[in-house]
Amino acid sequence: MSWFMMSRSFQRLAMASVLAGASLVLAIGPAQAGNKPATPSKPAKTVPVRLLSLNDFHGNLEPPTGSSGRMVDETGATVDAGGAAYAATHLKQLSDKNTLKVAQGDLIGASPLISAAYHDEPSVEFLGKVGVTASAVGNHEFDEGYAELKRIMNGGCHPVDGCSPAGKWKGADFSYLGANVIFKRPARGAEKQALEALGGSNSSLLLSLLKGYGIPALPPVAIRWMNGVPVGFIGLVTQTTPNIVTSEGIKDLEFIDEVKAANVASKLLQIVGVKAQVVLVHEGDQVTAGQSPDACSAQPGAGNRIATQVDAEVDMILSGHSHQAYLCTVADPKGGTRLYSQGGSFGRVITKVDFQVDVKTRDVVRSSVVADNQVVTRTVTPDPEIATFVQTWKDRVATVANRPIGRITADITNTAVASGESPLGNLIADGQLAATKTGGNAQIALMNPGGVRASLTYAGSPAGEGDGVVTYGEAFTVQPFNNLMQVVTLTGAQLKTVLEQQFVGGPNAQAFTKILQPSSNFTYTYSASAPWGSKVSEMKIDGVAVTDTQTIRVAANNFLVGGGDAFLAFKDGTDLWSGPLDIDAFAAYFAANPSITPPVPNHITVVP
Ligand SMILES: [Zn+2]
Repeated sequence: MSWFMMSRSFQRLAMASVLAGASLVLAIGPAQAGNKPATPSKPAKTVPVRLLSLNDFHGNLEPPTGSSGRMVDETGATVDAGGAAYAATHLKQLSDKNTLKVAQGDLIGASPLISAAYHDEPSVEFLGKVGVTASAVGNHEFDEGYAELKRIMNGGCHPVDGCSPAGKWKGADFSYLGANVIFKRPARGAEKQALEALGGSNSSLLLSLLKGYGIPALPPVAIRWMNGVPVGFIGLVTQTTPNIVTSEGIKDLEFIDEVKAANVASKLLQIVGVKAQVVLVHEGDQVTAGQSPDACSAQPGAGNRIATQVDAEVDMILSGHSHQAYLCTVADPKGGTRLYSQGGSFGRVITKVDFQVDVKTRDVVRSSVVADNQVVTRTVTPDPEIATFVQTWKDRVATVANRPIGRITADITNTAVASGESPLGNLIADGQLAATKTGGNAQIALMNPGGVRASLTYAGSPAGEGDGVVTYGEAFTVQPFNNLMQVVTLTGAQLKTVLEQQFVGGPNAQAFTKILQPSSNFTYTYSASAPWGSKVSEMKIDGVAVTDTQTIRVAANNFLVGGGDAFLAFKDGTDLWSGPLDIDAFAAYFAANPSITPPVPNHITVVP
């Protein structure tokens, strides 16, 4: 095709001066002086750039299983997809001399044990090995707190667990970006920190730009040179992050409006002459199920708002977070068209974007933008180097993963019944109550449904024991967050408010209800049609009615107790007690109950 022919003729220009962790000041003009063709020839009008991008990898070094490992392809067929070694092969096949590899966050966190047992260092190393150069942070990059994210970025051993079997962590080979992550209360030395975050430059211009914006806690932008032109990447993370990660780890941070932050970052790039601008945003929209990954059935939501509202200088918006695949064209504020895309999740899709940059204006020729979502099929030969790398970590984690912790008599699923409860949600809550009775004096337990990540199967997985044995690895797949169990005192009225906050309305600004999974000794009724605030009634503990004024010791993980998922009433709790990790509570319950039958999810009654 002519496009490829053109890219060949510009090979002389292809010496990209990739400025890893570039300081903005270093990135200005002179850096490209050495890239001019040696012989005078007709000057190029445009040069090609290819982006390959991933989002929401979530540590899936091994091919994900079940529905997480399948994807509808361009022909409408459902195919097996994902796995680091397959992704590496596809990335190699899709790469040319004009390629920059980027990502949109949630690369780590809520990940399988092979990655999580080592604080996701193996996944970050893999992404560096395949050449990712910059990524937005996602909400899950903050799962273990800001300090741990900085360690993942910069290197060093874990402060509690020490070094991994691979030795001292060397840090990420790519830049993690977050233009809308701001220090809440810039303390002494904040300016120095800001300059560090901006790449160690020493520019008063930059500092003056920060006025009215804030002191960024992460590098806001990265600049990469390709074929003699600079391409600027702006990283953004959903501003809802404080509602969906544990509050303690991000207590010094503010997550400001994505559009506002992107517009400041865009100005920053314009000032240093970077006109080709790409937003990498960890926020996205929902699509109609079963569509081709190249279709645009995205329902306009939080992602679309960003895609349509950020400065018209931004040429395309690559998104994430909603785990959907779509390729959309949206209008920018000046009426120009630009790409708005996402590439599914778990390494199942690579988004390929080809475009031309005008050499004189250094801007993207919008009409040249061609995007394609490529499914990471498993019909290719897995990349041998990455396959070996993954096997090495698989061997390392095997002794931890294969340890049996108990037995189940049948599948225990996380599939919700009409009330919103699931058998596995009930089981986890029962385990949490058992683990917090002594010490925390817990009377009931409530578990957030989003934290029940997989079902337990009698057949077992991936070993397929087929005898009901539950291994630590399987339990970890269900409970991968390493949250702490906590207990707080709530009044009956406060507990009722917590339950009201399950429903859309009040602090729950999202479009769906989140039914907390109750321990078996707690029952109540809700009305589907009653207005928000008076849906919940007939709360009972061990069959005894709960009064508004009585106090109740309620166990939940630290995510919920910190007000996560918009359960703000948990923050009114008093007499906080902290106990074991949630996964340890779960494992202990198996140890105490060697043969577990699936609980019946009948604790919540729904009336019209
Ligand atoms: Zn996310």
